[in-house]
Amino acid sequence: MADQCVFCRIVRREIVTNILLETEECIAFRDTNPQAPVHVLVIPKEHVSSLDAVTDAALVGRLGLVAAEVARRTGVAESGYRTVINTNAAAGQTVFHIHLHLLGGRQFGWPPG
Ligand code: AMP
Ligand code: ZN
Repeated sequence: MADQCVFCRIVRREIVTNILLETEECIAFRDTNPQAPVHVLVIPKEHVSSLDAVTDAALVGRLGLVAAEVARRTGVAESGYRTVINTNAAAGQTVFHIHLHLLGGRQFGWPPG
């Protein structure tokens, strides 16, 4: 439900977060439990529960472009960064408002855990 959704509440400014970038359709803010020196979440302002519920290809494109811009602004674009969208339980999705994780500022392993 968008009413109760924690990320919709961030969009409505009912929860204060560290917002790094805002566009007409997206916002990017710091993850409260960072897994890397730079850990930012990029979300659409519109409530969409997961990648599995996306019907607009442009929405995913916008998340990617905002993440790339935040990576440049936070200084990790050149060294490298990882972008992740966890979808549903097996991938560890805990907030059901689609979000793209931008992680940078350290070395990442592959395959991911
Ligand atoms: P996921 O497990 O992919 O659904 O990721 C959800 C992420 O949201 C986790 O990394 C949490 O630390 C993060 N998170 C949850 N609540 C907040 C919040 N209020 N502000 C910023 N990040 C949050
Ligand atoms: Zn939401």
